[in-house]
Amino acid sequence: VQQETEHVHDIDPSKLTLHLKSELTPVPAPETLTFGTVHTDHMLVLNYSPELGWSAPSIEPYGPMQVDPMASCIQYATNIFEGMKAYMGADGRPRLFRPDLNMARMKRSADRLALPPFDEQALLKLIKTLVMVEKRWIPTAPGCSLYIRPTMFGTRCGFGVTPSTSATLLVILSPSGPYFPGPVRPISLYAESRVRRAWPGGTGGHKLALNYAPTLRPTHDASLQGYNQILWLFGDDDHLGEVGQMNAFVVLRREDGSLDVITPPLDGTILPGVTRQSVLDLTRAHMLNAPIPGLPAELTLHVQERHMPIAELVEHSEAGRLAEVFGVGTAAVLVPINRIGYGEEGKEIAEETGASGFGPVAKAVREEIMAIQEARRTHVWSVPC
Ligand code: PMP
Repeated sequence: VQQETEHVHDIDPSKLTLHLKSELTPVPAPETLTFGTVHTDHMLVLNYSPELGWSAPSIEPYGPMQVDPMASCIQYATNIFEGMKAYMGADGRPRLFRPDLNMARMKRSADRLALPPFDEQALLKLIKTLVMVEKRWIPTAPGCSLYIRPTMFGTRCGFGVTPSTSATLLVILSPSGPYFPGPVRPISLYAESRVRRAWPGGTGGHKLALNYAPTLRPTHDASLQGYNQILWLFGDDDHLGEVGQMNAFVVLRREDGSLDVITPPLDGTILPGVTRQSVLDLTRAHMLNAPIPGLPAELTLHVQERHMPIAELVEHSEAGRLAEVFGVGTAAVLVPINRIGYGEEGKEIAEETGASGFGPVAKAVREEIMAIQEARRTHVWSVPC
């Protein structure tokens, strides 16, 4: 937005200063970890001013911050964030999963709110350094990881509705257990057609904090009716959008035994999820030269990014073609769905994936992504810190 004058600096990792705590917090036992409740000792902080650009980065003790009551983030929701994870490799080296995709998405989010731009590779370098500083917090138990939450918010003071010319960028870390505790159990969805999460020309394709606040009331109401998450719909045909904070996948069985693997297209109403992209990449590679372990190599997958009206889903379900429905995202990786309530009468769309809720595609894809994340399999997506 602004920047590009001689004195305005981009993020410079070589200027990093470390102010480390003298007394470190004991790391919690992995079995006590849930998702996103504990923070590590330190955070990365950068401030942007229109005169100087990005300040020297600092890794300092985690703690509360002062924000002016007139700040743009408080008054006009100029807040963006990312969600990624660090995993401890068997060789003792922390690894990130496709972090370039998170950096690119964060840059797009910042631009959507006219927040200052930044050098993605420089930020990634600092995130890797922060993870190394906090290495002892990376849980090694199965299903555990260190969740990374890069956050940026506008700090310009004033009631004028204009771009926030100043901003703060933080990266905070949270050791996390499984998103849904216990063995992965299938979840239920309420298909919401009265309240919309996103719409064409809106902000649903960006990771802005303001996309999440309006989902809290409908999600809470759905939980009172016994549903775990909302299946967001859009359009006159009520086509599938996202599953809570996850991207949606539907698997249909054809008569010849082959499978359709379908996910909604990136039409601006869907967040371009890193996990979604990974599922598409793996299932497409299965059809080329890299069969997914756990799936028969001769199994044909017809991978499609297309709209699916909820009526079509009901039709497939009633005709016995609906093989699997699942949600994918960084926090939970992949969660099977076994029940969808829709409409006034609460029509249930049941599937026949058994008590575990896992169909063959969900099971194989989840295992393969986790094997890559945990560096049990060598892969370019797994990036050492
Ligand atoms: N949709 C929404 C609305 C989300 O918040 C997330 C989580 N970032 C996702 C989908 C999944 O994206 P990713 O796989 O990058 O975590």
